[in-house]
Amino acid sequence: MKRIRNLTTILCYGMILGACSNPSSLTLEQRADQVSRAEMESITELLGNDLFEGRAPGTRGGELAEISVQSLFKFMDFEPGIDGSYFQPFVMKGFSNDGFDFSANGIPLNYPEDVVGTFSVEETEVNLTGEAVFVGFGITTELWDWNDYKDMDVKDKIVVTRVNDPGMVNPEIFEGHTLTYFGRWTYHIEEASRRGAAGILLIHTDESAGYDWDVVRNSWTGEELYIESNLQNNLKFRGWIQESAVRRILESADVDLDSLYDASNSRDFRPTELGFSFHIAGKNHIRDVMNRNVVAEIPGKTDKRIVLSAHIDHLGMDPEKAGDNIYNGAIDNGTAVGAMMVVAKILKEFQEDLHYTITILACNAEESGLLGSRFYVENTDRSSIIANINFESTPVWGKTNSIMGIGARFSDFEPMIKELAARDDLEYSTFSMSNQGLFYRSDQFSFARYGIPAVWISAGEDEASGERNYTEFWKGDYHTVEDEFNPEWELEGMKQTIKYALLLVDHINRTLTPPKLKTELPFPVEK
Ligand SMILES: [Zn+2]
Repeated sequence: MKRIRNLTTILCYGMILGACSNPSSLTLEQRADQVSRAEMESITELLGNDLFEGRAPGTRGGELAEISVQSLFKFMDFEPGIDGSYFQPFVMKGFSNDGFDFSANGIPLNYPEDVVGTFSVEETEVNLTGEAVFVGFGITTELWDWNDYKDMDVKDKIVVTRVNDPGMVNPEIFEGHTLTYFGRWTYHIEEASRRGAAGILLIHTDESAGYDWDVVRNSWTGEELYIESNLQNNLKFRGWIQESAVRRILESADVDLDSLYDASNSRDFRPTELGFSFHIAGKNHIRDVMNRNVVAEIPGKTDKRIVLSAHIDHLGMDPEKAGDNIYNGAIDNGTAVGAMMVVAKILKEFQEDLHYTITILACNAEESGLLGSRFYVENTDRSSIIANINFESTPVWGKTNSIMGIGARFSDFEPMIKELAARDDLEYSTFSMSNQGLFYRSDQFSFARYGIPAVWISAGEDEASGERNYTEFWKGDYHTVEDEFNPEWELEGMKQTIKYALLLVDHINRTLTPPKLKTELPFPVEK
């Protein structure tokens, strides 16, 4: 740390003195190149502190994160972003259970080894029986002329669905191994809900989900949070079931799962009534969870705005866990909030040059399904938003060979990033983990689904040294208690992320040409 500070001092002597004490005499790009280690570290170190207790929405640590970000906004002289306030409160329904009884065709399953889930209904005792229907991938879309439900009425039934999409088994359809919006488990639930199903069971395999059962179990055995707009219709139970458990049940009913799978790989598939019912019964704990997005703005010459976003929430604590039980989320999403704040701080220094207003959205409840960003977009004058630049789990290691724009391919962000990156001899890249659907899993998607050009900006995976720390993070420490602040981080990837976010804003601001969304998209756009 000390060495780098000294280096900055030496650089300053080599330049006009005023240039260092008054950043406005620098160009934006020069300022971006001078971002200090302290600027990058400070907010990550703060939010990653154990005292924030993992920043789960509606907890003491979560509230501390909201208050801290508000203080930072005030300190940096940003304007309140929501009708004179920095806070945009919203209420979520929290549902949890201590396990439940589950049986199918007379066979009991074990919680949480075989099955996990949530009762998403305002009843404290749920006793649900529904005929079992296998619906294949459970996808209906004109985009690939695909309709798994056909004319089957699944009202009050419990549907069993594969996750992922048919591109998983046939690279010629959908986007092949690149997971589409229709492959995400969130979509499968939305579609079952639209059709009036009483329950849904998502079949888990490591391959189709992209992660193992432990990840599912960890994220589905605590409290699940919902906002009004995702609690419509009839759906009382949403859960996951291990494929091995599905096989056990189906064998007892003389049904072959692989034949069902085969049939569901085709457009001609029809839903299959399995000939037995699922019984799910247990106690349901319900509470209202209050939490807040924290929103600021830096006014430009027009009300048209670019929204910078990063979620401040993470997974909280696990009281059952021995030893370290705090999910600090230092990278997810401390470094991203840190990067966003440095970008905003620098844009404030260049406020006179801003044509567009900059909104800084520190959103909440991302880990519960992008709820805060969705609430923001659903309750804002969307016509004023020209673009969203999102920060998510910003890499903190060595300098990388590329700049990534996750979701850039859906808009003019892609050519923009390519052109800017080429100036520094950097490649343009996208995630190697395209089977994970990461574009649909962070807050930029809340904007894109409403037709707003959106990108998750990040330094790439390949470091100049040949290391791939970022890729390893996603396969290792991501969503574990190991995601902790480390003073040894090189922070070069973070610096690159900050710089390219700034260059994107600068480019839009100078050319006065907002990026446009492509007309053909692999996901539906709502009005
Ligand atoms: Zn995240």
